[in-house]
Amino acid sequence: MTEAKTKTYKGSCLCSAVKFELIGEFQSFFLCHCSRCQKDTGSAHAANLFAPSAKLVWTQGENDVKTYLHPNSRHAKSFCRHCGSALPMVADSIKSVVVPAGSLDEAPSILPTAKIFVGSCASWSKDLSDIPSFETFPSA
Ligand SMILES: [Zn+2]
Ligand SMILES: [Zn+2]
Repeated sequence: MTEAKTKTYKGSCLCSAVKFELIGEFQSFFLCHCSRCQKDTGSAHAANLFAPSAKLVWTQGENDVKTYLHPNSRHAKSFCRHCGSALPMVADSIKSVVVPAGSLDEAPSILPTAKIFVGSCASWSKDLSDIPSFETFPSA
């Protein structure tokens, strides 16, 4: 891969205090349903992209990025100290940049690779295919 062809993704947190660039490509994209990811996202699953050979560059607000390391585990979460939004991190244990999909300002090049830890899946999120969908917040 030549330098000129290397893809750069831009991302940011909700309050825009933190901005970053990821230089490189994603290798996998996991929807993690484990109980830790349910807690740290407040939702059914985390949606994390893995980019083992990419470079993460903070272009704004690096000092506003905090990282929580869960004791006695490899579970970690980086977030903006102002708005709490999930942000990328370099996971030394797996030698990869891990990027929460929602932190990107553009669509990633790959679709989700797999759901993982589905044995821990929240009972309410096992099958959502039959619930109604609305373009915006539904009117009463
Ligand atoms: Zn923020
Ligand atoms: Zn998880």
